[in-house]
Amino acid sequence: MPCHWTKDGDGNPVMIPECYGGANDPEHCTCNIAGSELDKLREELREAYERIERMRLATHRQNERYLQVFNANRNLRARIAELEAQPAQ
Ligand SMILES: [Zn+2]
Repeated sequence: MPCHWTKDGDGNPVMIPECYGGANDPEHCTCNIAGSELDKLREELREAYERIERMRLATHRQNERYLQVFNANRNLRARIAELEAQPAQ
């Protein structure tokens, strides 16, 4: 049986080595099967990092928007206080 991937009890991918290269490092497997699985996992990892980056940017934009609304509300409250302090006409 060539090197192959399985999951541990926590669902993390674990390589079961069957060749000398794979025993040292999954990237050095010479079975030519684990490599494709490793490439697939690398692609999934790359996509996950892209998702994280998109979520980070979205969070940043939300924070910017929140700050704009917060400042607008603060200015409105200050203007209301000014108007309420004026004597009635
Ligand atoms: Zn191998």
